Amino acid sequence: MFFKLQILWRLVQLRWRKPRTTKAKQRLQQKLWKRLQKKVLCHSGFYRESAQNKQPLAAYPLMNKARFMANFNAINTHGIEVQEAYNVALKAEQSRDFSPMLGKVTVGLSSGTSGNRGIFLAAQAERAFWVAAVLDRVIGVALKKRKVAFFLRANSNLYDSIKSRVLQFEFFDLYDNLPQHLARLNALKPHILVAQPSMLLELAQALEAGTLHIAPTKVIAVAEVLSPEDRVQLERVFGQTIHQVYQCTEGFLASSCSEGVLHFHEDFLIIEKKYLDESRLRFHPVITDLLRSSQPVVRYELNDIIIEEKACPCGQPTLAIAQIEGRADDVLHFVDTTGNTVKIYPDFLRRAIIFSDEAIQDYTLAQTDLQRLELYIKGQEKSFCQARQGILDLLNKHHIAGVNIVQVQHKHHEKGGKLRRIKQAFNEQNDQN
Ligand SMILES: [Zn+2]
Repeated sequence: MFFKLQILWRLVQLRWRKPRTTKAKQRLQQKLWKRLQKKVLCHSGFYRESAQNKQPLAAYPLMNKARFMANFNAINTHGIEVQEAYNVALKAEQSRDFSPMLGKVTVGLSSGTSGNRGIFLAAQAERAFWVAAVLDRVIGVALKKRKVAFFLRANSNLYDSIKSRVLQFEFFDLYDNLPQHLARLNALKPHILVAQPSMLLELAQALEAGTLHIAPTKVIAVAEVLSPEDRVQLERVFGQTIHQVYQCTEGFLASSCSEGVLHFHEDFLIIEKKYLDESRLRFHPVITDLLRSSQPVVRYELNDIIIEEKACPCGQPTLAIAQIEGRADDVLHFVDTTGNTVKIYPDFLRRAIIFSDEAIQDYTLAQTDLQRLELYIKGQEKSFCQARQGILDLLNKHHIAGVNIVQVQHKHHEKGGKLRRIKQAFNEQNDQN
């Protein structure tokens, strides 16, 4: 019961202090930053000195996943050692018990790829805040009884805590097969559908084929990049705006406004932009979470590539996102005819492919070495050649020659894994975050 009260209190707080102007936003951030230094960072061995000296945020060191994990013991405020946390999390994962605790702190493993998995800690108050934020920004609060179908890689007892008389959560395991999902969805008839875009696309197909009979009033895309053309397709089939959530183990970062545009949660985060190109359009977000306390997240650079939306019609003062383009390791690298390395952002390749032929229904592109691309295309017979030509034209523009584009029969997508349509599949060292 205490936990539910905590959630309620956080919910009221989130609503009540939501800033309406840029000035109000900055005031709130400054207030929370001061409090974070005093109440949290002073208890972290890693940050104590800076916090006691009341250093400005800009004077704090930049973090990334490797540095964060290397300083795990000093950063967290509970005196937890990395090996101990890792053992608990691993044991829980093997037994599929999704609530590993270390004292009063929940331990989670991030789903990073091989070798450099992150560990995240959350105390009860932080979990209550997360639940409140999900209710406020994603699910919505209502007194009417609603059923939520939630597609996840692993169940989490966090969702059990949102369960109530008015909200019924049903967990769908991504490792189950589609016919199982369709049967359960048809029986459940959810009001709210939460899944990653690749699963939503499968469900949209089933809706059109007449094997799925649901009419959710809210559809929420999570966990993967939602490309503009997938969004158009989903909005057409589901007949509504598709909402998005941008979340990772490092934080609950952004959610859609009334216009369906993602906004960073700058009422409890500070976002710095590390620009990636001269046009200052693309950036890596550097996040400071003003409310995390077990494991402070201060100036943590993510390797996601964000394209900024300069003016969202909703008028909120928070930073808006035109598109999440992918991750740093979705950027393909080539060598041009003069021997220089050339980076090509996924969005350019995406356009080269989808605009090459209207008949293309699905695709993935994986770079397996500097001169080899594996292209999967679902469409008509001509579609592969058209897409291949589209990519070659783009490479030509950058004076890149001699790249071999090979047709593959299967999508680069492991069941249950995140779909990344464009990816660099040979340089694991890029996977720093
Ligand atoms: Zn907006």
